[in-house]
Amino acid sequence: MTDRRQLLGATAGILLFGGTPSARAQSYDLIVRGGRVIDPSVGLNAVRDVGIIAGRIAAIDTRIAGDASEVLDASGKIVMPGLIDIHTHAGRNREAPLAALRDGLTGLIDAGSGGADTIDSVTDVLRNAPQRCRALLSIMRGGIVPGEQPSFADANVDLARGAIARHADIVVGVKLRISDNLIGDRDLELLRRAQAAVAPSGLPVMVHIGQSYSPLRAVLPLLKHGDVVTHMYAPAPNSIFDDRGRLFPDVLAARRRGVVFDFGHGVTGHFDWDMVARATEQGFWPDTISTDWNINSRNTIVTDFPNVMSKLLMVGMPLTDVIAAATRNPARAFPAFADGGTLNIGAPADIAILELREGRFEFVDNYGGTKIGRQRLFPFATVLSGKRVPRA
Ligand SMILES: [Zn+2]
Repeated sequence: MTDRRQLLGATAGILLFGGTPSARAQSYDLIVRGGRVIDPSVGLNAVRDVGIIAGRIAAIDTRIAGDASEVLDASGKIVMPGLIDIHTHAGRNREAPLAALRDGLTGLIDAGSGGADTIDSVTDVLRNAPQRCRALLSIMRGGIVPGEQPSFADANVDLARGAIARHADIVVGVKLRISDNLIGDRDLELLRRAQAAVAPSGLPVMVHIGQSYSPLRAVLPLLKHGDVVTHMYAPAPNSIFDDRGRLFPDVLAARRRGVVFDFGHGVTGHFDWDMVARATEQGFWPDTISTDWNINSRNTIVTDFPNVMSKLLMVGMPLTDVIAAATRNPARAFPAFADGGTLNIGAPADIAILELREGRFEFVDNYGGTKIGRQRLFPFATVLSGKRVPRA
């Protein structure tokens, strides 16, 4: 706390005396110069310099005087808090977190790659990652393995509780898929098991919706404040819409009581442009933007996190809201990131610098539906704990 107060005091000094040559001669480790800073956490959208000292944001001003060990020219770029992706599979590969970091992700969550029997290898990858990485434990003891369908017997509450306790520094909740073919009509029972697994810790569950046996209206009442619905644009039979395409009132009620609705882009069966259009018409946007990214996603329609952000931008989500859903909102959803998602003075200097390019870009959903957009966000540079991340 002392550090924070000192930094706040120092910044107040700069703001008061800034512009005069006698302004306190601050020495910055890094100045990110001249970018458009968009930080929804503090309502800032303006061209600003960002000054960093000792890994923390020390000043934001129109023109920061004082010297810097390093200057990062961000003119023409968008400077925002480091991105946080709450649904990835980065824990499967040792190289994945660094690749994601270069896309601007200074925080991420692996969502269910590991279950009680397999989480140790996932947590090992995440603990050794350069940025802050956390995991959601699959309720299935073997985790989510591509192409494999677990059976109901794999959902073991005691083993899950043990794994949560063993990795309390990394595991921030439990993930489940209620659409697994072999689960069938036991999907609600599976969700109850997931809730039982997190009951002692009070952690959230993330539920993958879509092709479940039970209707979404039966699923939502089993979710508590802080739980996450991922793949919110999944199509019928169990989408967020009724037969006439209107949002279920239950969906709005769930949001009101603190259930988080997450994009969860993915590649098959999770995201349909028609669903996006319906939600958009009704003013229903994602609370959080996530990708379902893994190390091979470069070669898929996911590509990278800024590409997924761009899809929402194209359909009319305001840029500041897109950025909020990629920074502030995920930081609020998971306390492990509570000091992130902001460029406020004193916050960790985790920064994503993206470039918004004009052109002709193809944006594809999970069903081959293609839309052409005129703008696309591209990764430009990432700052982690005040240090610029070297390019690949
Ligand atoms: Zn996933």
